[in-house]
Amino acid sequence: MNSRCAACKYLRRRCPPDCIFSPYFPSNNPQRFESIHRIYGASNIGKILQQILPHLRAEAVESMYYEAQCRLADPVYGCVKIIYQLNQNIHHVHNQLANIQAQIAFYNAQMHGNNQIQNAELPAFVGFNNSLADQGNAFPHPAPPPSIRPPWPM
Ligand SMILES: [Zn+2]
Repeated sequence: MNSRCAACKYLRRRCPPDCIFSPYFPSNNPQRFESIHRIYGASNIGKILQQILPHLRAEAVESMYYEAQCRLADPVYGCVKIIYQLNQNIHHVHNQLANIQAQIAFYNAQMHGNNQIQNAELPAFVGFNNSLADQGNAFPHPAPPPSIRPPWPM
């Protein structure tokens, strides 16, 4: 009748009524605790949970589980690799957006009869195979804002 939570079952101990693990590690999902335990260690998981307000613990466990899964899949980089890839994606999309905005500005200026731009060459658009755009780069491509840059050089 007295069913232990996955953490206590894994640690082969009695599961007290106020077990800090039991709300987040149900007995029907032993793999979840195993993964986190392999990366953080049981006592660290307990310490982390004790330092967090109860209503935030479920999210903390989710985060630890995700990080543990990533670390087990990629022991060198863990979730940093995914963060880096997503930052690369953001950087790429920012460049595409800058290119599109430059094209829109160029064609808008042409439509409104701006002679200076009308006589100018179509700027080279990075990432676009545009036969008209092989001269210069009239529109600078803004770098992504610092807030989305990773702390390491890109
Ligand atoms: Zn327990």
